[in-house]
Amino acid sequence: LRTPVIAGNWKMNNDRTAAKALLSDLAPLVKDAACTVITCVPFTDLETALAATAGTDIKVGAQNCHFEKSGAYTGEVSADMLAEMGVEYVVLGHSERRQYFGETDVTVNLRTKAALAAGLKPIVCVGEHLEDREQGVTAELVALQTKIALLDVTAEQLQNVIIAYEPVWAIGTGKTATAEQAGEVCGVIRATVASLYGKEAADKLVVQYGGSMNAGNADELLAQPDVDGGLIGGASLKADAFAQIVAAAS
Ligand code: 13P
Repeated sequence: LRTPVIAGNWKMNNDRTAAKALLSDLAPLVKDAACTVITCVPFTDLETALAATAGTDIKVGAQNCHFEKSGAYTGEVSADMLAEMGVEYVVLGHSERRQYFGETDVTVNLRTKAALAAGLKPIVCVGEHLEDREQGVTAELVALQTKIALLDVTAEQLQNVIIAYEPVWAIGTGKTATAEQAGEVCGVIRATVASLYGKEAADKLVVQYGGSMNAGNADELLAQPDVDGGLIGGASLKADAFAQIVAAAS
């Protein structure tokens, strides 16, 4: 029904030399993978990554884009600028951007709409903090984040959206959500999308899990019916580790 999507999020790692080396190591390892393979790289690596992945099965994404088309927004990059380069995907609303750079549900929605209008495929991140989970509000919170991110996104545009469930307490901590926890919240996201766009559209939506996913736990997480792939941080920085997750999804 859904082709799994494994996306690496390099975060602020790898200069151009390292990017080129990692991608040339990775390309043969993921050749003919039965899932979609994406690497989301720093802006400065995009051109290198596009060149290094040409003719391979690896697709390239950025890690953010601004919501205006152009203008006085020092330090920002527009969705059109990424699309013009040939970038296909963009991570939006990552918890690190929400935590350190003032990203809110509303700006995530603006960026999502801008990315879609430019023809990019956004990977929209949602997820609860540990306190939210302890207070028992994870499902409501993630449903709300999902709803706001998708405000004014059309049913046609939704076909280009990926949603990544990343519990903040599991990111970079080595603590993975259990497969049941991941499956449950990914199911909440799908149910939320079903309430907005109908069951058929929700059944087509790719929902990823992210947070300390690695070669050792990927099988179990991906076996959950509502987990359609992964957004991988640390383990995407090593070609063999990332390729093993791709293999688990294939
Ligand atoms: P880690 O895989 O390093 O926990 O990072 C997950 C993540 O934030 C991917 O976007």
